[in-house]
Parts: sequence; structure tokens; C-alpha cells
Amino acid sequence: MSVEQVSRRGILKTSLLGSLLAGLSTISVSAHAQEKDKENKKDMYDVIVLGAGPAGLVTAIAAKQAGAKKVVVFEKKDRPDGNAIFALGSVCGWGSRHQKEQGIKDSAEDFYAMMMDVSKQMGDPALNRTYTDNIPKDIDWLEQDIGVKFGKIRPMPYPRLGRTCRVQGEGITGGAQLVKKLLAAAQKNGVELKFEHKGIELLHDDKMNVTGVKIQTPSGQKEYYSKGGVAIATGGFSANPEMVDKYIGGWATRMVLRGSKSTTGENISLTMPLYTKFVNMDQFHSGPIVKETHVNPADVLNSGYGIQVTTGGDRYMDENNTYVIKARTTAQKTLDNKAWVIVDSNCPVLGNVIDKYNRLNSPYGKADTIEALAKQVGLPEKKIVKAVQEYNDAVKNNTLDKLTPANTYKKPHLIEKAPFYAIPLNGGMTATFGGPLINTKAEVQNLDGKSIPGLYAVGNSAGGIFFHNYAGGAQLGAATVFGRIAGKEMAQRAATSK
Ligand SMILES: Cc1cc2nc3c(=O)[nH]c(=O)nc-3n(C[C@H](O)[C@H](O)[C@H](O)COP(=O)(O)OP(=O)(O)OC[C@H]3O[C@@H](n4cnc5c(N)ncnc54)[C@H](O)[C@@H]3O)c2cc1C
Repeated sequence: MSVEQVSRRGILKTSLLGSLLAGLSTISVSAHAQEKDKENKKDMYDVIVLGAGPAGLVTAIAAKQAGAKKVVVFEKKDRPDGNAIFALGSVCGWGSRHQKEQGIKDSAEDFYAMMMDVSKQMGDPALNRTYTDNIPKDIDWLEQDIGVKFGKIRPMPYPRLGRTCRVQGEGITGGAQLVKKLLAAAQKNGVELKFEHKGIELLHDDKMNVTGVKIQTPSGQKEYYSKGGVAIATGGFSANPEMVDKYIGGWATRMVLRGSKSTTGENISLTMPLYTKFVNMDQFHSGPIVKETHVNPADVLNSGYGIQVTTGGDRYMDENNTYVIKARTTAQKTLDNKAWVIVDSNCPVLGNVIDKYNRLNSPYGKADTIEALAKQVGLPEKKIVKAVQEYNDAVKNNTLDKLTPANTYKKPHLIEKAPFYAIPLNGGMTATFGGPLINTKAEVQNLDGKSIPGLYAVGNSAGGIFFHNYAGGAQLGAATVFGRIAGKEMAQRAATSK
């Protein structure tokens, strides 16, 4: 019955009016409440995940598999756009089917010891133990549940042990292929995927329980709520210069991004208001890269051949360092974050490296004398000739340790066989290791040493596992291990919430 109909019946002036209008208003209030309730239900999830990288997608799938009914992944870009797209796709673990089939003997203890060694014993022991305990079955899960195809076990990118299962890229990077498979599995499992939905603020109640998230959608801002909590899977902060400056140092802001421009530090900015404990904020992984062409010259840097000079023509570091340290030191010790490897034709990996540079049309120098080489690439000729001469003399006289800076090559090689090559490089940042400290349930910790109810962090967003360096393949491994743990925990939380 409409108000108009009521009026027409001429009862407007009667005493019934008040009660009728009151009745109508009850109807409209309750209809409004129902509408609101419906709306709220629509926006109420069991599990909310921010970020559609491997960590976020694994979390969402695991939550569904553990019984959560409504699971959503909000992704700020129109597609997954994190570091995973650039990743080789190595996943490191022990006890996998592949290791067994290839007769590689391994153990949990050896694997755990390696993880801790790589972090210089600074990685969180409980988190590294959790990784070690879960990775064998999680590699199986990637294969069996997600349909990931792994190639033969290869030596890890670092340290070079037989523990790497590499996702077969099939024409794209292994990391992108992993994301593709996870996206398909998420859809198959009924996970809602909302692209161009950026997490901009965590919502919490008056007891600091995380209850939801405010999202910037293409049509404005909207609040979404979750019974099981919110998982931060937004990656690290390498693409946020202000944070890199604050937590690592100004010199690091000049490093070239080896990964995604979307890793802008929402793991920090979103969680900071909840008095979150951040750890390892100055720690990151680096690698060499050529800024203009994104060629990776790591092989020549790891070869044990040649010397490394600045654009001013000076040797600036011990060449017997890993590519990680070489990339970092280049950014730290040169203003232009640029250096050159001067190497001769005896270097065994040169063929591959030069092929790569040619394929990507990336400039390098090649000449029959050191002087001509320096001239060709614009390096100070006299200084380069002198640096090579000093190095060669030190190799012959066994006095490399007296050079400034000292060189500690175990089996040094002369720079003597033409043609000589000058390979350029810049220091690049792969990923930051710092972030909200998690416990073994992937729950974010606050500054009082307690879990923040309803807040989880996974993948590159989470802090505690990595320090100094990472065992090649352990980042995607950690995204899988802790994503599965978080998904299960959140599903349970949703099931028991009132
Ligand atoms: C060149 C390179 C090679 C690598 N190779 C390997 C390798 O072989 N093996 C290995 O283990 N690791 C490797 N890594 C590291 C690996 O890529 C990362 O550890 C992995 O991608 C982390 O996954 P993630 O899901 O945590 O984050 P990401 O893959 O970075 O994904 C984060 C996602 O969150 C989204 N996002 C960000 N902010 C928001 C927000 N506010 N709201 C919603 N969405 C948001 C981003 O757009 C992105 O899609 C490599 C990295 C690089 C750069």
C-alpha cells in the first residue's frame, strides 16, 4: 500500500494517521535494514586476501580447500603484476619426488642448516623450520592440486645445490606460468578475483581485531568485511623510493628495479597503524642488470674471471664476491650505479653472456687491445691499461692480496687473450626482505609481541624468514608454504567466528 493510496481514502486527518505512518515507517526502516543487511552480507567474506601474486593466490585457494565459503582476492592492477611475473620460477626444497627420482640424497636437517647459513643465522629459526617441514608436501601440492609442471632438478641459483624444482615456463617466465596456473586453480576453487581493487586501509574494531579492508575501486571507495581476517600479500617495497631511502639508504634508491613497479610497500603502509612489529627492514636481495635493456650479466660476474671497474676506471671491490654483493656494492660505491667487467676470451661463460647481450641488442665493448677496448666504451684508457697490468702482475707474483682493494680469487686467471670484452652492469634490486614479523601461523605480530587478531602476511610482504640473501627458489617456496598455512588458519577463524 502506498502513502498516496492511504491519502486517497481520506483518513489523513484521523487519529489512525499517526499509527499508520508509524507502521509505514517501520516497514520502510525494516526494508532499509534488510537491504543494508543484504548489502553487508554481500560485502562480508570468510577470507579477504590483498594481492594476486603467488602468495595471495595460494592463500585464497588453501582457504577454500580448508572449507571457507566466500573468499576474495583484491588485486590493485588489472592483472597480477608483482615480482612473480619476472621470476625464473625456481622453488627450492628437499624430499621432493624429483629429488628422489634423480637419486639426490637430502635431509631436513641439511636443508634447514642451508637456509640458516644463507641468512647468516639471522633468519627466524621457527619460520625456517616451518618452511623446511612443509616444503616437501607443498611441492607435491603445487604439482598435484595446481597442475604446475616442474622440469628436472637443477642446481639452485644460490648456493649451487641440487634442490631446485623449476616451473616450466612454456614460453613465459616460470614465475608468470606459476601465477597463470594458480589463477586457473583459484577460479576452479570458486575464489572471487577482483582486479583494479586496491587495498588502502585496514579496518579494525575497538579491540584492534582486523575486521576488513577499505578498497579503492574504479567507482570509488568501498568497505569489505571478513570473518576470517585479512591476508596481506601485496609484495615488498622495492618500488617505493621513499621507503627504500628510509629503511635501506639513499644510495639504494639509485638501484635498478629487477622486478615489478607494483611492489610499493603496502605491507608497511597498511599495517603500520596497527602497531605492527617490522623486522629486517634494511635487508634485500640484489643482482646485476643493465638498466636500459634489462640483460642480466650475473654469469660473467660469477665466473671467477676478470676485473671490475667504475666508469672512472678504478677497481672498487674484491672480484671474488657473489653477484649479489657485486650488485649491491656497485650501487653503494659508485655515484652513477654503473660498472664494467673487463674480461678476456678465456672466460668460459663469455659465449652465453655475449649471445644474450646480442639477442637483446645490449651494447658491450670488444677489441683486440685493452687500450682500444677502453676507448671504444668511453673508459679512461690509461687507467684501465694500468689496472689490468697491475692485476696481471699480482696474479703472476701471487700478490693479489696486496692490491687495493685486495682480490681473493682462489684460482686467478690472467687477462691476456684477445679479443677483450667490456661488459657493463648496474646494481639492481630484486626484492626487499623486511616487513611485518609473522609467526609460524602467518599471523602478524605487534610491538607488544602478540598476534594482531585477524591480520596475516604472506610471501614478500612478510618479514622474518630472509636476511642477507635467500637460497635460490626459497621466496616462491615461502609464498607457497606460508600461503597454505595462512589460508587454513583464516578458514578456521571464519568457521569459529560469531
Ligand atoms: C628477476 C626476479 C627473479 C626472481 N626469481 C625467483 C625465483 O626463481 N625463485 C624464487 O623463489 N623467487 C624469485 N624471485 C622472487 C619472487 O618473484 C617473489 O618472492 C614472489 O613474487 C613473491 O610473491 P608475492 O605473491 O609475495 O608478491 P608479488 O609476486 O610481488 O605479488 C604482489 C601482488 O600484490 C599486488 N598488490 C600490491 N599492492 C596491493 C594493494 N594495495 N592492493 C591489492 N593488490 C596489491 C601487486 O600488484 C601484485 O600483483 C624473483 C624476483 C625477481 C624480481
